[in-house]
Amino acid sequence: MKVTEEEIRPEKVFNEYLQLTNKDVVDYFENAERFDILCPACGGKGESWAMKSGFSYKLCPDCLSIYVSPRPVMDAFNAYYTDSPSTKFWATTFYKVTEAARREKLWKPKAQMIRARIKQYEDNDPVKYIIDIGGGYGVFDEEIKNIMDIEAIIIEPSVHLAKICREKGLSVVEKFMEEIQPGELPDGRKCYVSFELFEHLHDATVFLETVFNNMQKNDLFIFTTLSSMGIDIQLLGEHAKALSPPHHLNFLNPKSVSALLQKNGFTVLEAITPGKLDIDILKKNQQYIKDPFWKNVLTYYNEEQLATLQEFIASAGLSSHMMITCRKP
Ligand SMILES: [Zn+2]
Repeated sequence: MKVTEEEIRPEKVFNEYLQLTNKDVVDYFENAERFDILCPACGGKGESWAMKSGFSYKLCPDCLSIYVSPRPVMDAFNAYYTDSPSTKFWATTFYKVTEAARREKLWKPKAQMIRARIKQYEDNDPVKYIIDIGGGYGVFDEEIKNIMDIEAIIIEPSVHLAKICREKGLSVVEKFMEEIQPGELPDGRKCYVSFELFEHLHDATVFLETVFNNMQKNDLFIFTTLSSMGIDIQLLGEHAKALSPPHHLNFLNPKSVSALLQKNGFTVLEAITPGKLDIDILKKNQQYIKDPFWKNVLTYYNEEQLATLQEFIASAGLSSHMMITCRKP
C-alpha cells in the first residue's frame, strides 16, 4: 500500500505541533541542567554532527549511532512528557485528525507484521499478552486484538493518552516502563512491543534492563525506532525532520542496536528496516540535499522507479524506520 508523509503528518497541523514544541523546548529545557554522555549503543566517544533547537547531536565514530549530548536531566523530560502543551496537542488534536489514516496505513500493516513474528517465534507456546510500552492512542492494540486472540496491556505515562486508551476500553498502566516492578504484570507468555519509543529514551540501557528484568524466559520483545543509517537522515543531516529535539535523542542502527541488545542478554532474532517513507521525505526536502547523485536520482527517476528504489532501500537496511525482534533466552 502506498503511504505518503502528508497522510500521516499533514503539514499544516504538524507545523502547529512544531510551533508548540519550540515553545516547550524553551519552557521545559532551556534552564535544565545538561551532562555529556557517551554513545548509548557502544560507549564510544561521539563527535559533533548537528545542532538543532539548542540540542547537540553527536555521531559515534565506532558504531555510527547518532545521539543527543550533552543531554538535559531526566526530570526535564518527565515533566515534558507527563503534561506539556505540545504533548497534549499531539494527543488531542494532531493524533485525532490523523488517526483514521494512521490506522489504515500504519497500524493495520504493523499489527500484521507483529502477528507474523509472534507466529514465527512462539514455537508451540502461545503468546497470551501484548505489553505495549508507550502505547499512545492504543490503535495498535485495537488492531492486533481484531486479528489475534490476545490480551493487550498498555504502559502509558501521559495522562492525556492514558485517558484516551481507557475510554476505548483498553487496559492501561499509567506509568513509565522504568517504574514497573517485576510481578506487577499478569503471569503468562508475553510479547512486549514498543513503537517509535526507543529514540525518545533518556537512558536506553536502563530501559532495556527494565524490559529484560520484567520479561520471563522466552518472552519476545519487538520494537521499532529510527536508524542513524536511514538514507534521509544521512542525506539531510540537520535538516532531517527526524532530528527533532526534545523527542528524538537516540538513533542507533541495525548493527549497533543488535550489539547493544546482545550485551544486555537478549537473543536478537531479526533487525530490519521495513520503512516506506524515505523517498517521499527526500523528494520533499530536495533543496537540502548536497549530494549531486541523489539530487539527480530524485528528479530523473519516475514514480515506478522510485517505488523500486524505496523497496531496495528498505531491504538493504537503509531506511530510517527500523524494527527489531528479540527474545529473552
Ligand atoms: Zn557507538
